[in-house]
Amino acid sequence: MLRIAIQTKGRLNEDSTELLSDAGVKIKDSKRKFLAQAENFPIEVLYLRDDDIPQTVASGLADIGIVGLNEVEEKGLKVDVLQKLGFGGCRLSLALPKDEPYNGPQYFAGKTIATSYPNILRRYMAEQGVDCKVAEISGSVEITPAAGLTDAIFDIVSSGGTLVSNGLVEVEKVLFSEAVLIGTPGMSAEKKAVVDELMFRFESVIDSRGKKYILMNIPTDAVDKAVQVIPAMRSPTIMPLAQEGWCSMHSVVEEKDIWDKIKALKEIGAEGILVLSLEKMIR
Ligand code: ATP
Ligand code: MG
Repeated sequence: MLRIAIQTKGRLNEDSTELLSDAGVKIKDSKRKFLAQAENFPIEVLYLRDDDIPQTVASGLADIGIVGLNEVEEKGLKVDVLQKLGFGGCRLSLALPKDEPYNGPQYFAGKTIATSYPNILRRYMAEQGVDCKVAEISGSVEITPAAGLTDAIFDIVSSGGTLVSNGLVEVEKVLFSEAVLIGTPGMSAEKKAVVDELMFRFESVIDSRGKKYILMNIPTDAVDKAVQVIPAMRSPTIMPLAQEGWCSMHSVVEEKDIWDKIKALKEIGAEGILVLSLEKMIR
């Protein structure tokens, strides 16, 4: 039986659970258990703190896991990064009190930097040839400069709001992270086959996110122009309508572009435009 480790609670829990569920993996009693079996897929789910996931996968106690790339890089253990999962996006950045004059990484020479990611920070500073002091702190890193304890921080940034509210400014983006699927190196062919099926399903789910299915009626002589507006996976589906001179056109569009596309399609004569949600996309 394949075992996947995911975060028990926290920022990655909900998206990880949703990804499994969208991939058709039904988990029994997931709320109350430490280890839960799937009903309809040969997998069991192990719920852990995110810090413990890289080690659990590296040791083979779980075969695969979902965790932030930041944790994988920090732990530096031997695991295979199998797939990017498109959620939990953030970056690890260096930030300073906003009025400090910053002139590049050399600024940090001799400075004290607070972080929960000492290994990634030391690696970066070694690459830059900068000798700094690293103060390892497990939480509330962002308050240490104002408290006079440190000169700078190296921490997770997503919107940047926490930095602003602590009077800090981001000066170097060191690592871009998102949730990734990791695996134990050298797993058996049998387990690998199950992992491949799961990754195929994940990819179909991830691919369909942020996309919409669009269909419309369009005058036949405007089809060439419409194809320019909405290219599809191969090319849009075009079917004749019973009424001569008209056809129905179907395609898939990025949600963020949808209103621009609708405007352009209306201008070339499209009517009866329908936008539908897209659940899975198999390329
Ligand atoms: P645990 O209790 O499991 O140890 P945690 O408190 O260490 O949880 P969370 O805050 O739940 O961790 O964050 C989990 C992961 O979510 C991070 O390691 C990171 O990859 C990702 N993430 C995305 N955006 C953010 C953010 N704004 N702040 C913190 N983590 C973020
Ligand atoms: Mg943690």
